[in-house]
Amino acid sequence: MDPWTLAYEGFDPNEEGLREALCTLGNGRFATRGAAPEAEVDEVHYPGTYIAGCYDRLVSSVAGYDVTNEDMVNAPNWLPLTFATPGSGWFSPRTTDLLEYRQELDLRHAILRRLIRFRDEDGRITVVRQRRLVSMADPLLAALETTFTAENWSGPLLVRAALDGRVTNSGVPRYRDLRGDHLTAHATGADGDILWLRARTRSSAVVIALAARVEARSPGHEVERDPEMIAREHTLELVRGRPTVVVKTVALVTSRDHAVAGPSETAVRRVRLAPGFEPLLERHRVAWDGLWGRARLDVDAPKAQRNVRLNVFHVLQTLSPHTADLDVGVPARGLHGEAYRGHVFWDELFVLPWLNLRFPEIARGLLRYRWRRLPEARAAASAVGLSGAMFPWQSGGDGREETQSLHLNPRSGRWLPDHSRLQRHVGLAIAYNVWQHYLVTGDLEFLADFGAELLIEIARFFASMARLDPGSGRYEIHGVMGPDEYHDAYPGAALPGLDNNAYTNVMTVWLLLRAEETLRLLPRRSYEELVARLGLDATETERWEDITRGMRVDFHDGVISQFTGYSGLLELDWARYRGVRRLDRELEAEGDSANRYQASKQADVLMLFYLLTSEELKEILDRLGYRTEPGMILRTVHYYLARTCHGSTLSAVVHGWVLARCDRSGSWRFFTETLTADVIDVQGGTTAEGVHLGAMAGTLDLLQRCYLGLEIRHDGLHLNPLLPDRLAGLSLRIRYRGAELSIRADSGEIRIGRADDGPDIVAVTVHGRSARLGRRESRAFPLPDETLPAAECL
Ligand code: BGC
Repeated sequence: MDPWTLAYEGFDPNEEGLREALCTLGNGRFATRGAAPEAEVDEVHYPGTYIAGCYDRLVSSVAGYDVTNEDMVNAPNWLPLTFATPGSGWFSPRTTDLLEYRQELDLRHAILRRLIRFRDEDGRITVVRQRRLVSMADPLLAALETTFTAENWSGPLLVRAALDGRVTNSGVPRYRDLRGDHLTAHATGADGDILWLRARTRSSAVVIALAARVEARSPGHEVERDPEMIAREHTLELVRGRPTVVVKTVALVTSRDHAVAGPSETAVRRVRLAPGFEPLLERHRVAWDGLWGRARLDVDAPKAQRNVRLNVFHVLQTLSPHTADLDVGVPARGLHGEAYRGHVFWDELFVLPWLNLRFPEIARGLLRYRWRRLPEARAAASAVGLSGAMFPWQSGGDGREETQSLHLNPRSGRWLPDHSRLQRHVGLAIAYNVWQHYLVTGDLEFLADFGAELLIEIARFFASMARLDPGSGRYEIHGVMGPDEYHDAYPGAALPGLDNNAYTNVMTVWLLLRAEETLRLLPRRSYEELVARLGLDATETERWEDITRGMRVDFHDGVISQFTGYSGLLELDWARYRGVRRLDRELEAEGDSANRYQASKQADVLMLFYLLTSEELKEILDRLGYRTEPGMILRTVHYYLARTCHGSTLSAVVHGWVLARCDRSGSWRFFTETLTADVIDVQGGTTAEGVHLGAMAGTLDLLQRCYLGLEIRHDGLHLNPLLPDRLAGLSLRIRYRGAELSIRADSGEIRIGRADDGPDIVAVTVHGRSARLGRRESRAFPLPDETLPAAECL
């Protein structure tokens, strides 16, 4: 397997949706699925272009209810380009006699190549080569180069290039009852040799403009123009054996962009100024070389290397240095499809730790997306009688709750109430990311400018959810859902929500401790300003302190209980449901409910071992007065492992992580399962609707923070590597507090080297041995015998 290429041989209509998603090209500002340029939307193809942060809200009537729905908008299609040999219809891989067909995604330079060799009904054989890019150097531009070679004939070839605004959001079959006609006020026109198309989103009123320049040997003439579509045709006189090139260069500009006069005017101007394909490609290549220089991650596991790069690649398609300047969050399914309507969940928890250590400016931009939405989050908390900031489970344009109130179970065909908004833990993910960002960058200005405000307002919210139970003297949090979405209520209960979800309660304690620490860290003036602005007083912080000593956590059978009452639920007949990932849908279709069983969709309690070291967790439990029995962590891991069906791709990331120190081959199995989850579409059809960005970035983070045991503490970098047997070595580059470090580990030693930048000294500790590294210095540390069991396993 070429470690830089994702290649597909032959055309397979059943796989096309998956390939389109996996061959998406983007630049962190917009992305276009890897759909064939000649394809229109049908049951095989779904060309889609998504602009980061471009949402629109519509009301639909579903199952007798008015449902408001905000979608990441499918933008007008810039791709259309098709061709026909004399007397034949337009080319289509489904109906034309294909002699060769190959599609290749070049991961190093983000180029999508396609080779088609076909024969028409009169025996003419033509070779078509395409190269496509979405520029990482100039984030407004994209281009498609097509080279035609008539192999055994000479004569005219008709080429048609268009801009198509007749698109809707219709990429996910489950949502087809919802309106998807987000674009209105279409207009098209030509300005000399440049075509343009403009449309506006219905409620968010974002103007989106496309302009296209087509360079071909023969001039084009307009063949179609209506407000939603404009097309030109060129007749190319092909000479046998001589390649003829057509280049379509496109600018996509919206009214949300900076430095824009008017979207259509700027689009036309930018495409007119755009260089030809080769220089455009060259600049794009240079930009990607720069990204890979920072994102390099090499694994000595040949089967895994290509997919590690594919994951890096897709994270960077969605979140690039261009994203840092935008007002956008982390869409759970990338800019690759319409699943989850482009919404932002808690998945950034799995993404920012990787970005922090390479592209801190992107992570910072993503945290600002949350910070700008504090007013909505405050209003949401106060609407339910709580304080601080209650971030929505699903966020989009303005930060209000976008979670649907009904969802369709495709197994039963029923629309069901959706309580997933009760997953308040999304705020914990944001706070965790704020803290990690601070630890990695040491950036006190970030904390003072907005990090601390986010953290404190989230802390306030969780503290206000905690209620003192006078009977037990313990604080309790009621009526929430944990990450395991299969449990949203007690069996037979009138109201949804569960009490004392262990993940939420323990992380609340962690959060309140970090909030107190943050207040201590802030420079005096910033501290005073913040405290005055937020009206924070000693009574409130004393209550926080009290909660950090009195929060309730339930246990049963020597393990942490997922929530109060969990141990009283029934055991599921797992043999009967073997291999079923969406158990909730299956059980509901049978007239039953997952709420009745000890069966989880994904890691819930185990998230604690994912986010906290065993020492941190033990410290919190000790502080709460719970004595941790020896072996508790391991027992808890195995308990839930046996009761989880991994209905979310995030689950395997967490399981790979928590098994890393005690079951190295089990950990590697989970790692490779997540690594290939999208490539092989492990959930059977979901990847075509968008990649799973959290799982993709989570595997990368697992390599660094788990297998390398990379931990950022106040006193520097700590590394505790323990590589799985199947991973012979690992090399990567990180940025830590302004310093670039190269790290190379194998089973015998770890070598850490510094580039010529950053602070005078970086402190590193490997398995308890410390060193102070100056610029350009490098140090090797021998690793202890890895057959010894790690402390966490005892
Ligand atoms: C998972 C959530 C996740 C969401 C978006 C769901 O299936 O259960 O944890 O946030 O997908 O990726």
